[in-house]
Amino acid sequence: MHGEMNVHDNVLEMIGCTPLVRLNNITKHLKGDFFVKYEAQNPGHSAKDRIALYILDKAEKEGRLKPGDTVIETTSGNTGFSLAMACVVKGYKCILAVSDKSSKDKISLLKTMGAEVYVCPANVAPEDPRSYYEVAKRLHSETPNSIYINQYFNSLNIDAHYLSTGPEIWKQTQGKITHLVACSGTGGTISGSARYLKEQNPEIKILGIDAYGSIIKKFHETKVLDKNEIYPYKIEGLGKNLVPTATDFDIIDKFTKVTDAESAFMARDIAKTEGMFVGYTSGAALQGVMQLAEQKEFDENSHVVIIFPDHGSRYMSKIYSDAWMKSQGFMRENQDQVSGDKLT
Ligand code: PMP
Repeated sequence: MHGEMNVHDNVLEMIGCTPLVRLNNITKHLKGDFFVKYEAQNPGHSAKDRIALYILDKAEKEGRLKPGDTVIETTSGNTGFSLAMACVVKGYKCILAVSDKSSKDKISLLKTMGAEVYVCPANVAPEDPRSYYEVAKRLHSETPNSIYINQYFNSLNIDAHYLSTGPEIWKQTQGKITHLVACSGTGGTISGSARYLKEQNPEIKILGIDAYGSIIKKFHETKVLDKNEIYPYKIEGLGKNLVPTATDFDIIDKFTKVTDAESAFMARDIAKTEGMFVGYTSGAALQGVMQLAEQKEFDENSHVVIIFPDHGSRYMSKIYSDAWMKSQGFMRENQDQVSGDKLT
């Protein structure tokens, strides 16, 4: 996608080919080499640029989208931003149904990109008419010449990563990758990347990160959706209260669950130790790596790739705000604060 001279006809040509960056400090005490796939380098600052571009391109090629049509989606924010960006460039109207758990920053960003945004309650059942799934479905049925992306149940979400993220990681590690660690929301990133990587080397272990309050890990282990696993949590974009068909559960070897507080502190630590300003789920992914290391998943020969899905700027009013951290009761002794204040 990148021109040889790094000159592009539009921002969408900048999507993909994100860097792989070694972690030099924060994983020093662990066995193995750790690299992050730095998805914040996409023009929309997240991995979701890849699926937005791929799905819209495909719909155009199949004649399902024509200039002036409307693109509708449910989104925790990042997919919405990527779709809104792609719609600006391609000339579509963009309508997004967003959960009220999404940060204010993210919702403002969607509007900045020209999208029409409907904010829906996060803590209602998916079949509730107020849920963002139902709102998006209703808007789709009421809007002529619209397509509904439906990322949780769209296999193109997996294909986008199978065709881009997976091959990039394989090439960037020169086939040395032994473990892939990725957060699972829709499951598209982990499933698509894993599918490509396992085709190259079936020995590569695929390790998924889930949130406490989500059903994904238990469903992976039992194939039963246990509603007792569901309760409100703060990490955005990770875990789910339903079973997404965009997750290929069979290709994932193991899940680990992370907490809101530990993931938030880990994101802060990544900035201070590696100089990387990344989002909440990047903290979750690395917190998961620490737990997996305790479970003896890695050894001296491990060559681990961790996907860092988005940029830190989207979380200034959340994990990078001391006031927000305090309001959540997230405290840690001797924690250096972003503002220099003590949280405790
Ligand atoms: N992190 C963030 C910040 C996200 O927005 C998402 C997408 N919901 C994910 C991780 C998980 O990616 P996927 O949906 O491909 O599983």
